[in-house]
Amino acid sequence: MAMSDPVVTRFAPSPSGHLHLGHAYAAMVAHNAAREAGGRFLLRIEDIDGFRRRAVYEEAIQEDLRWLGLEWDGPVLRQSERGEAYAAALDQLRDLGLLYPCFCSRADIRAEVADSVHAHHGPLGPLYPGLCRGLSLDEAQTRVTEGEPHALRLAMDRAIEVANERAGGPLFWHDRDAGAVEARPRDLGDVVLARKELATSYHLAVTVDDAFQGITLVTRGDDLFPATHVHRLLQALLDLPVPEYHHHRRITGADGQPLATRDGATALVALREGGWSPEDVREAVRPATPRKS
Ligand code: GLU
Repeated sequence: MAMSDPVVTRFAPSPSGHLHLGHAYAAMVAHNAAREAGGRFLLRIEDIDGFRRRAVYEEAIQEDLRWLGLEWDGPVLRQSERGEAYAAALDQLRDLGLLYPCFCSRADIRAEVADSVHAHHGPLGPLYPGLCRGLSLDEAQTRVTEGEPHALRLAMDRAIEVANERAGGPLFWHDRDAGAVEARPRDLGDVVLARKELATSYHLAVTVDDAFQGITLVTRGDDLFPATHVHRLLQALLDLPVPEYHHHRRITGADGQPLATRDGATALVALREGGWSPEDVREAVRPATPRKS
């Protein structure tokens, strides 16, 4: 990124429940990084899963952010309205010969992984053992035409070859803490990029939308560090710009585990109703400051 480029960050929650202290911290990191640089802070609702109560939670998210004083710039982007952009990206990858249909159910994959002494495990769980990778084009095409439910997977080894050829060598991204990081997407295997019931996946939607929104600095929890390797690969394959990344710590609860949406106790709405102020929230997530219980 050139020094003169404006900083554009985003907060990208899924509307699957109420925001908690961990979300507040993530939103503050993104907001502050933009404001300190005189840049823009955007809001994206990651609702590709068709959450049943999407509208209710989206409204609550906006209310929580306003209460915290985290005003976003411009219109809200909703992933549920971006199907065409994801389909176009899938077409690009298909034209490169990098997608294949996978007919395995989750149970098929689990059974294969359990049976195989050679199963590989990546940072986000066992890797797809490649059952459908070897299907002949004819067989795959026939099963697709017959309407058999399938997902679309990225042929990882080939995708890395194509990307490295284009880049003239290995891919890197710049991380605010880790510095130059070499992308190692192979560790995630043949990731799913679309499913029958979902015309995109997290990996594809996030990569396409970060580019669409002109995000120059992606801030997110350090649990998503492994995913960035895949996103960097997709950027190379889809000719998208490469933002800078900052993977921040996650806020933990009394048990030392990162907060999750199901831990309603730290929901911002509950804290607010219990008398907390936005300043109390800021204090609670400040590093090395004992958290209020
Ligand atoms: N929607 C993701 C989440 O709520 C964040 C996506 C991202 O930052 O890449 O965890």
